[in-house]
Amino acid sequence: MIFKSINPYTQEIVGTHPILTSVQLRQKISLADKGFHYWKTTSFNDRTVKMKRLADLLRLNKTELALLITSEMGKVLAESEAEIEKSALNCEYYAEKAEQLLKEEINSTRFNSKTVFDPLGAVFAIMPWNYPFWQVFRYAAPTIMAGNVTLLKHAPNVMGCAKAIERLFLEAGFPEGIFQELTIDVPQVEEVIASNIVCGVTLTGSEGAGAAVALLAGKHIKKSVLELGGSDAFIVLDDANLEAAATVAAQSRMGNSGQACICAKRFIVTESVANDFTSLFIKKVKKIQQGDPLNAQNQMGPLARIDLAEKLELQLRTSLDQGAQLLLGGEREQCNFQPTIIDHVQADNIAFKEETFGPVAAIVRAKNEEEAITLANQHRYGLAAAIWSEDVEKAQQLARKIEAGSVFINSLVRSDSQIAFGGIKKSGYGRELGAIGLKEFLNVKSIVVG
Ligand code: NAP
Repeated sequence: MIFKSINPYTQEIVGTHPILTSVQLRQKISLADKGFHYWKTTSFNDRTVKMKRLADLLRLNKTELALLITSEMGKVLAESEAEIEKSALNCEYYAEKAEQLLKEEINSTRFNSKTVFDPLGAVFAIMPWNYPFWQVFRYAAPTIMAGNVTLLKHAPNVMGCAKAIERLFLEAGFPEGIFQELTIDVPQVEEVIASNIVCGVTLTGSEGAGAAVALLAGKHIKKSVLELGGSDAFIVLDDANLEAAATVAAQSRMGNSGQACICAKRFIVTESVANDFTSLFIKKVKKIQQGDPLNAQNQMGPLARIDLAEKLELQLRTSLDQGAQLLLGGEREQCNFQPTIIDHVQADNIAFKEETFGPVAAIVRAKNEEEAITLANQHRYGLAAAIWSEDVEKAQQLARKIEAGSVFINSLVRSDSQIAFGGIKKSGYGRELGAIGLKEFLNVKSIVVG
């Protein structure tokens, strides 16, 4: 069997990737085993030198790597380049900080005791296509700096990116077996999870994939981290700076063609400012030109696959049938989806209840602040949220009432090397990034004297 990468804008096949045979898969797993037994003995200094070299290589090859991302999943070139830069910064951050973040902790207990953080083996990662480099570097840089090794099952449409990342690790001087991509299909996943060297599995993807993988992880007593879907609320209160909120709203919903778990999806606006916010939001979104991702004039490319564009179109049609009002866009041609805004979306509307993975913004009108928070929490997902209010003190108090893994006040929800990232409810569990994310797949070992 062969995976094909198809350019979503031209529909041309840009790469074919034969799936690993069982023998090849076993060889890669045993290489990870060998790699780990060496890698865990290396010093932070040794790891840091290689990780910094990797950051340099990402930057050196930025144009070529960005073209690869764009050809496989369709985001505009400027966004692909920004993704490579963000991945390089992440390598540098963990190269510099991992040793300090993993320093042993002397405990103030009635014993002479301390806590140390030991690597455990290979972290198996199952990743999606929407940020084909960033999603990988987000987990891989910290875990490798901590002394683990990793095996990656990437999404089939971005296998070219997966292979490029493996090559970069080798070129940066990491020995074989530290970072390996596995060109495997879903039925081969259990063999990897079951193997002795795999200490845990981290999955970024849909709810269904998360549930299936968590089941396997449980069966084989392996830890799992799940970074799943979201339908983030973007709450605009009476006292918000509407101009700034509308600018960030457009960025947050339409960036990456709306294909991010932390894109704002439900714009919950209090009634007294709803009309003003909506006009400003329309004005900002109208400026976004959608088309060929290689054309620097365009700010938005196509969606990554035709089935995803069809699904979004069906969600939009259903939402309009259920009473939402179309304010902007709404048309699709193959993978090209116009930036779209719908208004008067009620809590029982499909655009409120389901995740919309593309450029469709749903405006939800709330009577007041209290109802805005209730609506934000009235969801199966709990990934992130944004609150817009000039009263930062009040916004911080409201943030505590929001059921989400993170809340950003008056700014764009984003992931950052220094901040723990992850969700609650059906958005998953566990964290990536920050000191907490770094320790997810480590043995938190207590050492007690006497
Ligand atoms: P997806 O279909 O779940 O795929 C993600 C990965 O999981 C792919 O590698 C996929 O491989 C694999 N997978 C799917 N079913 C599986 C199974 N039963 N067992 C093992 N692996 C399986 O998700 P997607 O459509 O590519 O990505 C969009 C979703 O990811 C959205 O819901 C989005 O919100 C979420 N996401 C979450 C985050 C976060 O950090 N929370 C970040 C980005 C995206 P195959 O393609 O081969 O099936």
